[in-house]
Amino acid sequence: MMYTSTRDCSVRATAAQAITQGISTEGGLFVPEQLPVISKDELAAMVSQKYIERAVTVLSRFLSDFSEAEVRECAEAAYGTGRFLAPEVAPVRTLKDDVHVLELWHGPTCAFKDMALQILPHLMRVSAQKTSDGKEIVILVATSGDTGKAALEGFRDAPHTRILVFYPENGVSPMQKLQMTTQQGSNVGVCAIRGNFDDAQSGVKAIFTDPAMRDKLASQGMMFSSANSINWGRLVPQIVYYFSAYCDLLASGAITMGDKVNVAVPTGNFGNVLAAYYAREMGLPIARLICASNCNNVLTDFIRTGTYDRKRDFHTTVSPSMDILISSNLERLLYHLSGCDAALVAELMGKLQKDGCYTVPDTLLVKIRELFAAGWCDDEHTMTAIRKTFDEQKYLCDTHTAVAVAVCDEYRRETGDKTPLIVASTADPYKFSASVLQAFGAEQADEDEFDKVDRLHALTGAPVPPSLAALKGQKPRFDQVCSRETMEETVCAMLK
Ligand SMILES: *Cc1c(COP(=O)(O)O)cnc(C)c1O
Repeated sequence: MMYTSTRDCSVRATAAQAITQGISTEGGLFVPEQLPVISKDELAAMVSQKYIERAVTVLSRFLSDFSEAEVRECAEAAYGTGRFLAPEVAPVRTLKDDVHVLELWHGPTCAFKDMALQILPHLMRVSAQKTSDGKEIVILVATSGDTGKAALEGFRDAPHTRILVFYPENGVSPMQKLQMTTQQGSNVGVCAIRGNFDDAQSGVKAIFTDPAMRDKLASQGMMFSSANSINWGRLVPQIVYYFSAYCDLLASGAITMGDKVNVAVPTGNFGNVLAAYYAREMGLPIARLICASNCNNVLTDFIRTGTYDRKRDFHTTVSPSMDILISSNLERLLYHLSGCDAALVAELMGKLQKDGCYTVPDTLLVKIRELFAAGWCDDEHTMTAIRKTFDEQKYLCDTHTAVAVAVCDEYRRETGDKTPLIVASTADPYKFSASVLQAFGAEQADEDEFDKVDRLHALTGAPVPPSLAALKGQKPRFDQVCSRETMEETVCAMLK
């Protein structure tokens, strides 16, 4: 299995090269040249398997330059005993009306990013052995809140690796901020930036693709890589859990082999929903992909009209991990659905950079709309969804998952589509205690974060994850703030 770039079809890379490099030198994203297929028989065989085995089956198809023993070692290190609090790793909870919630937040940092970022450091270590000639890898991360912590935790004290995280100063929840600023480890750095997630992401991308920075690092025996979902090594582990959820539904008798399901995903950078698209292309019986956004609804407009226009106000919402106007992974979808037209993708991405918008050809829009439905919901409706789901079904969801729940409700009402539904649940509610309490009309502004946690627990009975409870009373290690313009200097200083 070889990889190419979304913007230049002359690029060829192995999986190990794609993972260590993170992004192609001309700015495109690595994509597999063809997608493997998992047959019905293979799917049936996965039903009785544990998560690790399912992961080995799926990952091996993409990591053809890894031995099976290497893939297995990585999967065991990530998903083995004690790493995830749920024994199933990614359990499926069934609500009423054929709605199934796929809980992706039982890892050490309580958000779905752990699903990929617990294994990425191991994939990177094995990849680096194959490709990087002993260079030290510098992972640069831009985060809207959850990736930062998950990447710090995954890469802390990893040999021959440094990790630097940039987060928007006022764009993350208090718990997310505390998780990052208290991070332990000898190879980690954390810095706030004055700006939003898009500023952080474009800053990181600019540093990656700056030849002068690349040379400078090389002269110090270092190379950059990415732990954002632009890195192929982030996406491929996310494909696994859609297969796993389908297998769990088969095992519980909720569906029978071949039944179609819809998948709904609270979306920001388009990585999670893209992984569901890949699962579908690999033969998983998924009918429609439902892309749910908050009021940063650039993707809803795009899927409905074919015009992607980021020239709009950026909103800070109760679902901060989805406060994004430039959804990087959409580029990969455009590449695949345009019949691998790298020239077209390069042109569209050039327009996005230059003019802030682009429009796809009609033929491409038709294909997107066959596969995807899209909707968005504002903070008020997000709160209502949290409250209603708890009152009616005794199920507590976080502010991001609630966006998908609200969008699905509307989708089902408008279309009458009763296909069984898998909703990707992306964070533990206690990461966003203030907003979740507000949904119950119970927020008190002067309370400390951990009083809120206690009160939410008293109100709902939902268990508090030990890793969040343990943050109480911890002193931040990192308090640096920089601007978009000084990110490069900050990186150099951190690497000294
Ligand atoms: C990152 C994140 C999302 C968005 O996922 P993408 O893959 O970027 O679309 C949604 N919810 C939570 C809680 C997240 O951390």
